[in-house]
Amino acid sequence: MSASPEQTDGYVLCQDCSHVEPYTSERHHGRENCPKCGGSFCGCNACSELARLALQFQEPSDEQEAGE
Ligand SMILES: [Zn+2]
Ligand SMILES: [Zn+2]
Repeated sequence: MSASPEQTDGYVLCQDCSHVEPYTSERHHGRENCPKCGGSFCGCNACSELARLALQFQEPSDEQEAGE
């Protein structure tokens, strides 16, 4: 009973560790899991918005990882 429309521009949010990834249908439908914890992503409107807000609090240079 998913009433959420398909999004093409958004994010998915890991339900376990709140890791954010760009939206893909694979992630939204649970065919791709979180690379950090193996949890499931959610790409509903609420989670996409939360993810978008979370990204705003991250440092812009998220390409660089300062450690493992
Ligand atoms: Zn995770
Ligand atoms: Zn959600």
